[in-house]
Amino acid sequence: MEVRSETDRLMHHAQQLIGIFAAMRAFADSLARDGHAVHYLKIGDPENRHSFAENLTKLCSDYDAVGVEWQEPDSWYVDEELRKLVKSQGLEFNVVSTEHFFEDRDSLARFMDGKKSWRMEYWYRYLRKKYDLLMDSDEPLGGQWNFDVSNRKAWKGDPEPPVDARVSHDHSGIWKEICECGIKTFGAPHEHDFRWPSNRSESLRLLDAFADSMLENFGDYQDAMSSKHQTLFHSLLSFSLNTKMLCPKEVISAIVKRLKPNNENISSIEGFVRQILGWREFVRGVYWARMPDYIDINEMRHTAKLPKWFWDGRVNMNCLRESIGQSLDTSYAHHIQRLMVIGNFCLLAQIDPKQVHLWYLGVYIDAFEWVESPNTLGMSQFADGGLFASKPYISSSAYIHRMSDYCKDCRYDRKKKHTGDACPFDTLYWSFLDDHRERFAKNPRMTMMIKNLDRKSQDELNAIRGRASELKGSMDRL
Ligand code: FAD
Ligand code: SF4
Repeated sequence: MEVRSETDRLMHHAQQLIGIFAAMRAFADSLARDGHAVHYLKIGDPENRHSFAENLTKLCSDYDAVGVEWQEPDSWYVDEELRKLVKSQGLEFNVVSTEHFFEDRDSLARFMDGKKSWRMEYWYRYLRKKYDLLMDSDEPLGGQWNFDVSNRKAWKGDPEPPVDARVSHDHSGIWKEICECGIKTFGAPHEHDFRWPSNRSESLRLLDAFADSMLENFGDYQDAMSSKHQTLFHSLLSFSLNTKMLCPKEVISAIVKRLKPNNENISSIEGFVRQILGWREFVRGVYWARMPDYIDINEMRHTAKLPKWFWDGRVNMNCLRESIGQSLDTSYAHHIQRLMVIGNFCLLAQIDPKQVHLWYLGVYIDAFEWVESPNTLGMSQFADGGLFASKPYISSSAYIHRMSDYCKDCRYDRKKKHTGDACPFDTLYWSFLDDHRERFAKNPRMTMMIKNLDRKSQDELNAIRGRASELKGSMDRL
C-alpha cells in the first residue's frame, strides 16, 4: 500500500517516491503473475485510507481475516503500528524475520552486550569468520583485515569510469498520480528519464555491470570526488539492496567470486565486502538497539538552523554546491560527499542534528531510517557522543582539496586565513575545536588536533572566533 502516513511524514525527494512506488508496483505485478492473490492500494485509490493500520483494519473486515502475518518491517514505527493493530483488533498474528540481512535485528546488541563503545571493526571480523568470507582458515585472506590505506587515491580523470549501466524508464504516469494527490516533494523528478532500477532483473544487471567494469577500481577511488564525474566507481546498488530487490548475501557472493589469482584485487573486494557485511549490518543493529530515543539525540548540543541552500543548491562554496546540487538532481551522492563534504560542514557549523537527519532521510534514493539515522546522527554528526565513532569525522579544506577537484573552481580561497573570502571550512574547523575543546581534550585520537589548536596565537584565535561568528550569522548567504 502507498500511504500518505509515509509520504507526508517528512518532505521526500521526488525520485524517492517515484522509485519506491515503481518498485512496489513491479513487485506486486510479479507476485500476481506467479499466481498470488494481491490486493494493491495505489496512492490515488479512493478506497485507500492512507495508514497501514486503517487499511489493514478495512482489509481484515472485507476478507473476514482471523489473522495477519508479516515480514519484519525495517521501520521501528511500522513495527509498532502493526503490533498495536493486531492487539487492538484481537487478531492472531505471526511475524517472520527477513532473509535480506545476514544477521537478525538484535544480534549486534547481543554481540556488544555491556560494552560502552561499539566498534564496527570487531563486529566485521566476527562476521567474516562466522560466514567464512575472505578467510584463510582463521586468518584474513591477504594477511590483513583491512585495506583502507590502499583506498585513498584522488581521481585525476583516468581511468575513465564506464557509462551508466542503468536503464531509462518513463515513470511520468506515477509522477502524475503523486502530483494529483498534492504531495509536497523537492528535487528533480526526471520522470521521463528515470534511472533507478524498478525490479530485480534490472538490479541484477546493475550488479553484473559493477562487478565487470567498476569493481577493479572501486577500492582505489572509493574516497575520490570530482566535478567531472558524479558517481565514479561506486556501485549504485544501495537502492536495490534497501528495497530488497537484491539480497546482500547474493551481492557479496557475486563480488567474492571475482577475486583474482594470488588475491591480486583483494583491496577492492575487501573494501566492498566491508561496506555491506560490516557497515550495513552494523548500522542496522545500532538502529534496533537504540530506537526510539536515537532520533532525538543531540549530545553536542548543536542548535543552528539548516541553511536554505540545502533545498535549492544555491551556495558559493563549490564543494557543497556540487555535492548538494547533485543530490537534488539525482537523489544520490556517494559516501565521502555525504560524510566529508555535506556532513562535515553541518557538524562544523554546529547545525541541529535533527534537521540534518530529516534532510538526509528525505533526499537520498536509498534513505530509510534504519540505515540513514546511525550514519547521519552517529557517524556524521557525532550526535550520540561517540557510541561507534571514536572521534568526529571532521576536516579542514585540506581533505576536500586532496580528494577532489572542487577547490580550483571555488569563489573561496583556501590559501587565505579567516578573511571574508577565505574557505569557511578552515575557520569553522578551528572554531569547532575551540568550542568543544574540553570534550575532546580527553580523547586520545584528538590529541594532535587539540595540540595544533593550542599552538594558535591569541591573535589568530581572535580572528577565528570573529570570522566564525560572522559565518554563523550569515549561513544562508554562503
Ligand atoms: P558503494 O560505495 O558502491 O558501496 C556499496 C554498498 O555498501 C552500498 O550500496 C551500501 O549498501 C553499503 N554501504 C556502504 N557504506 C555504508 C554505510 N556507511 N552504511 C550502510 N551501508 C553502507 N546508505 C544507505 O543505504 N542509506 C542511507 O540513507 C544512507 N545515509 C547516509 C548518510 C550519511 C551521512 C552517510 C555518511 C552515509 C550514508 N549511507 C547511507 C551510506 C553510504 O553513503 C551509501 O550506502 C552509499 O553512498 C550508497 O551508494 P552505493 O550503492 O553506490 O555505494
Ligand atoms: Fe569547499 Fe573550501 Fe574548497 Fe571551496 S575552497 S571547494 S569551500 S573546501
